[in-house]
Amino acid sequence: MDDVITATVLRQTSRRRVFQYIYNSSQPVTRKEIAEELSLSVPTITGSLSELVELGLVSCSDVQVSTEERKPRTYALEPLARGAVGLSILDNEVRMLAIDMRANELGFRALPLPFTHTASYYETLTRCLEEFLDDLDLDRSRLLGVGITLPGIIDQEAGKVVMAPTLDLWDVSLDEIYPYFSRYHSFIENDANASGCAERWMDKSRSNMVYLYLERGVGGAIFWDNKQYIGDRGRGGEFGHLCIVPNGKLCHCGRRGCLEAYCSTSRLSDDLGVTLEEFFAALRGGDEQAAAIWAEYCDHLTDALNNLRTNFDCDIVLGGTLSSYLGDLFPELCWELGEKTLFNGDSSFLHLDRFGAHSACAGTALRFIDDYLCSI
Ligand SMILES: [Zn+2]
Repeated sequence: MDDVITATVLRQTSRRRVFQYIYNSSQPVTRKEIAEELSLSVPTITGSLSELVELGLVSCSDVQVSTEERKPRTYALEPLARGAVGLSILDNEVRMLAIDMRANELGFRALPLPFTHTASYYETLTRCLEEFLDDLDLDRSRLLGVGITLPGIIDQEAGKVVMAPTLDLWDVSLDEIYPYFSRYHSFIENDANASGCAERWMDKSRSNMVYLYLERGVGGAIFWDNKQYIGDRGRGGEFGHLCIVPNGKLCHCGRRGCLEAYCSTSRLSDDLGVTLEEFFAALRGGDEQAAAIWAEYCDHLTDALNNLRTNFDCDIVLGGTLSSYLGDLFPELCWELGEKTLFNGDSSFLHLDRFGAHSACAGTALRFIDDYLCSI
């Protein structure tokens, strides 16, 4: 019996290694290349490849017999074999993103949907999700799961949302939300953490990284020594509630002077009764009011960035919706930051993320892809 179990485990381990090797290869690979890289026997690799092809996870090329030199069969990932969805809940809208196994976007949708912690809200949300998947013609059987992000502190051990100030959600059990998504494997997490993970997933070259998430809520994530650091109680990286102006503006959390009170994207949109697109169009068009508001915003943002850099001494990545609007404004922001840093005007540690407004959705969806890669 033990021998049978051992053989099964060995077979699964070999299959996983072969799959991960193919997954991480940018080009199709041959059986010989796999054998050399993984030091596995050809029969073992042949068995693993047959199973992976059978599962639809890997495709193999036809052997070319018409050419003078017979080319060996090659194997490549079928990225559409599995997919995952990220769903990001904000106070005034919901975003949905479907990705394939390589994090390629299959579709994205942002819908205005004011949040209320009610059955009708979650029913509307799940109906919108189904319509999104229908429009993409996404085969539900290939969907690994639906990740859901909230702009709040989530205690996974206790299974509750500790606080999500912009949603006015305090001490709510996750079991009040999960049942609405029971059709799928689902996972609820903090939006900034998910966003930071998406950035890490795309670029693992930094062993240390601080991620500042600029949305209607402001948050962050810390990656230290190649791992995410969440603190003793999962509350690490809540940069939105760093006090940057003592006795300053009232924050959603009830305290005064938090970074979120000054650098929420709402400061550039809701406060002026415009959209972010309209604000940045006005700013780039030379509007003086927009320029003054932007100058104040950047002053507070660079104060916070300078504090983060002074504390962590590592690369900082700016993410969330705001990062997607920066473009030509980024060099000036870097210059202003450089003027504030202790160390020779250097701001080369500041970077923009890759996913912008899609980051939280991407990060939470990628958890399902990662889990699958480790469990296949
Ligand atoms: Zn606050």
